[in-house]
Amino acid sequence: MIVLEQVSKRYRHRDQGWFTAVEPLSLHIKAGEIFGLMGYSGAGKSTLLRLINLLERPDSGSVSVDGQTLTALSAPSLRQARQHIGMVFQQFNLLANRTVAANVAFPLEVAGWQRSDIERRVAECLDIVGLTDRANHYPAQLSGGQKQRVGIARALAASPKVILADEPTSALDPATTRSVLECLLDINRRFNVTIVIVTHEMSVIRRLCDRAALLHQGKLLEVIDVKDNQIHA
Ligand code: ADP
Ligand code: ADP
Repeated sequence: MIVLEQVSKRYRHRDQGWFTAVEPLSLHIKAGEIFGLMGYSGAGKSTLLRLINLLERPDSGSVSVDGQTLTALSAPSLRQARQHIGMVFQQFNLLANRTVAANVAFPLEVAGWQRSDIERRVAECLDIVGLTDRANHYPAQLSGGQKQRVGIARALAASPKVILADEPTSALDPATTRSVLECLLDINRRFNVTIVIVTHEMSVIRRLCDRAALLHQGKLLEVIDVKDNQIHA
């Protein structure tokens, strides 16, 4: 589903020349997998995640998602392809002056959907994440876990094959973390959405992931199988 071939990324640091955030590495993520990216702060996890949808352009290598080589696409085609890759952020990134429903509707409005189709799909997505009764609330009226479930509903709106989640539970307490992890697992199981999740928490890897890559100083140290990825604890 996701094929990274020899991708690398370096940044220019003021007065210090170039700094390599991701060394050339290759990674294959299968359809329907929940795949973790783990490692200490600064390991390159977030950069690697953003290389998957080309929010960061790799300096070398190629990125393919669902059979499409994103690194070879023109800007308009890439915009189109990105609509089928959902993204979930640590700080939710909701629009404060829009209701829950309008936040979920936003990517569909940008994609040019008709109003009636948007309303139907928004209602479906809010049902999936269990927030139907919060449709007309504003983000400030929600708990952290609810905000993140809005973020997940928004990521799901355009029926993506892939969702990229960057530390989705790091701003949450353990109880709400559980509801967000269950929500992601449910979406993976029901719709076979491939999920790539960045986390520094081993418990998140254990509870959610099928496999995980360990990164350290921009290098891919190993890819591990995670057994028994059920949310029991
Ligand atoms: P992680 O997600 O594992 O904490 P990141 O991918 O965010 O790691 O960052 C990896 C390294 O790249 C860090 O040293 C970080 O400072 C650096 N870095 C990340 N983004 C940028 C940027 N836009 N400009 C310069 N350096 C960056
Ligand atoms: P804004 O004024 O910020 O654009 P709107 O209230 O017009 O917000 O809503 C934006 C979109 O969200 C609309 O296109 C509408 O289809 C959708 N929407 C709003 N409320 C609901 C709801 N309760 N259920 C489903 N969709 C909704």
